[in-house]
Amino acid sequence: MNTNSRAIAAYLGLAIGDALGSTVEFMTPREIVAQYGVHDTLCGGGWLHLKPGHVTDDTTMSLALGDSILKEKQVNALAIACAFDNWMRGKPIDIGNTVRRNLVLFRMTGNPEAPYSDHDAGNGAAMRVLPVALATFDQSEDAVRQACRAQAHVTHHSALSDAACECIVFMVQDALRGVDKIYLLDTHANQLATKHPEFNFQEARPLSNPSGYIVDTLKAVFQSFFKTKDFRECLVDVVNRGGDADTTGAIAGMLAGAYYGLQSIPNSWLMGLESNTSLECIKQAESLINFNISMSV
Ligand SMILES: [Mg+2]
Repeated sequence: MNTNSRAIAAYLGLAIGDALGSTVEFMTPREIVAQYGVHDTLCGGGWLHLKPGHVTDDTTMSLALGDSILKEKQVNALAIACAFDNWMRGKPIDIGNTVRRNLVLFRMTGNPEAPYSDHDAGNGAAMRVLPVALATFDQSEDAVRQACRAQAHVTHHSALSDAACECIVFMVQDALRGVDKIYLLDTHANQLATKHPEFNFQEARPLSNPSGYIVDTLKAVFQSFFKTKDFRECLVDVVNRGGDADTTGAIAGMLAGAYYGLQSIPNSWLMGLESNTSLECIKQAESLINFNISMSV
């Protein structure tokens, strides 16, 4: 399995997880069981009344970010803020409160770095972080961290969000290199929990109804990813927990896609994803993973 194909699987995984989870976003596991039994199809619906296979802000913000990196040939905070601002002007079907507030602030100040706030520890920066993981694949650890923060701080400037974004990026990059799951657990997930005990997902009972708080989101993703054995099982496990299911689906999808690769994604999901989104994800994944960007953040 080559890196290119894993990168494409990560991007399609993000979009498929978003589309799958959006159907059950804000539902409790009990409500999901009552309505769907086990939810495992790209059937659309949900509170956004999506058409089958359509995606939300998790994927469309990722695509806006990836576009900016490819156009600028670098991860540039100001260019990213402009790209997100344009995205917001396009009246997306869904937008997080922290994203909206800090993009409105950017319009007023022109400063692409949101003010620091421990309260801005939502999952909005982590859900769209994949293009940075792909574009900085061969770069130094410092350069990767710098790029992570440049993109994240446009809307989310918090220590826990930063720690999560960096952890996801390093995990995705190592998954693209084909490392095993124990390595991902020891080197990344457990290290994050050692540094920030909030993220300890091992001792917690299975987290149901995960909120948009990045700690809840990542605990649910890690629990699902480390206890399941393939792409499908991981995504079904995480979205059926309900809560912020499009985003737990998106993050689990990018990680499981990079780890298990393209052939692990069920055909019905590949075919069910809205076709323009699918093409954009594939195109960006190929461009970003083969892109040697010069850093200027
Ligand atoms: Mg969303």
